[in-house]
Amino acid sequence: MNWHWSPALDMPPVERDRFLADALPTSFLGEPTRGPVPGGRAAALATLHGYDLADYGRSRNFVDGASSRLSPYLRHGMLSITEVRDAIKTRYATEPARSEEFLRQLAWRDFFDKVLDWHGRGLDDNLENAKHPVERRTGLPPDIAAGATGLPCMDGTLHQLFDTGYLHNHQRLWFAAYLCHFRGVSWKEGARLFRRYLYDGDVASNNSSWQWVESTFSSKPYFMNQENIARFSNNAYCESCRVVCPFRASYDDLQENLFNARRAPLQMVGRHEPPKLPAPRDPVRTPSPESAACASVVWVHDAAISPEDVALKANPDAAVVFAFDEADLKREPWAFHRLAFVFDGVVELMRGLPNPVKLVTIGDPATDLAAIARQLGATTVHLTDSPNAAFREAAATLRQSFTVNDYPRPVLAEYTEEPRRFSRYWDQCAPQVLGYAPKGKKSRP
Ligand SMILES: Cc1cc2nc3c(=O)[nH]c(=O)nc-3n(C[C@H](O)[C@H](O)[C@H](O)COP(=O)(O)OP(=O)(O)OC[C@H]3O[C@@H](n4cnc5c(N)ncnc54)[C@H](O)[C@@H]3O)c2cc1C
Repeated sequence: MNWHWSPALDMPPVERDRFLADALPTSFLGEPTRGPVPGGRAAALATLHGYDLADYGRSRNFVDGASSRLSPYLRHGMLSITEVRDAIKTRYATEPARSEEFLRQLAWRDFFDKVLDWHGRGLDDNLENAKHPVERRTGLPPDIAAGATGLPCMDGTLHQLFDTGYLHNHQRLWFAAYLCHFRGVSWKEGARLFRRYLYDGDVASNNSSWQWVESTFSSKPYFMNQENIARFSNNAYCESCRVVCPFRASYDDLQENLFNARRAPLQMVGRHEPPKLPAPRDPVRTPSPESAACASVVWVHDAAISPEDVALKANPDAAVVFAFDEADLKREPWAFHRLAFVFDGVVELMRGLPNPVKLVTIGDPATDLAAIARQLGATTVHLTDSPNAAFREAAATLRQSFTVNDYPRPVLAEYTEEPRRFSRYWDQCAPQVLGYAPKGKKSRP
């Protein structure tokens, strides 16, 4: 285990980034440069309070529509789902119809968390049989890894993903449909690519959405045609596009081409080198934590980086530990902007906490937490629940040696059935989310 804390506390962001890059030398992709989205509670609140729903219901499907970009903060618990719900409901208390569509979209997140809660590691595999006979290949085609498919809409999407860590929901749907149905690649490759680069990359919404497109978690595959891309991107790609467009066809023709054969229509195009991982460097080693007796430890995990986190708020005298999961990051490195975003949030959080001991480790979370707890003489570990399977497994390991105090995570709605289709969930849960029963029914994300 490497303990890194005090040196990073007072560093300016650039130095902190260098520190992080040295500490996790083989756990990120590309250059160690930060991205456009600042991490942390202050940035999260500024985004929430500065967000104007405007005409979200009408414009949300357009790439330049009124989407909130709150997902990075929600993903990492810098804002909880109930805080966002409450802020929006309060703001639109006198005209609730304006916020209804936003809250319904927010409920997709709650639904997908429940899917992960239900299936755990099972969500890494197909939840249902695909509703088509087409074979899928493993391995990400090199032209996709390089953002050089030759299709301006897909390359534009990929470069936006690599450079900014954010894609609008419609861009995610288009790219997922392209990778799965037009290229015949397993959804798992796309989900992995998204998790690496998206600030909001997760298992719950990501794997479930990919499976929704693929039809292993929906009743039919999702796909789009060129008209749809042109309309909802406001012609951003199509107007100047000169390539033979694989999406330029009617839905009936595409349905026939894509799904009435055993192989997807487009195979590998172009020859490109896969992106190179940065060369390993010697990690920075820093000294052990300051010793102080603490009766308990709070585990701040990567979906609960907030001073409002219930486990943290309830335990101001406990030691606080955040652990970067080194093995996980080696297996599936993140783009550096994701690491810096999370670290920004952790540093800001730790700086503001009253707790007597605050540590960031890089190693195996369960092992590190246990070692720290023993060193401090702590017998209890507090944590806020997350549906993430790796987190649950680590919590189970800790439970063998410590009293583990689980705090429930904030949810939008109670739903005890197996979450299979959003429409059914929404039928039951909308009154809990909105405070009234909505008039219409819609089930597309
Ligand atoms: C293939 C694919 C992969 C995806 N991967 C992820 C992922 O890794 N992490 C992630 O958080 N979301 C994922 N989504 C869902 C959705 O695209 C993003 O949550 C949304 O685009 C975030 O942007 P926003 O905050 O501006 O959304 P807004 O439109 O402003 O919505 C507000 C909030 O509601 C929730 N939300 C909205 N739409 C959805 C949706 N369709 N599914 C789940 N939650 C939703 C998000 O928390 C979002 O922040 C994926 C969607 C697809 C199609």
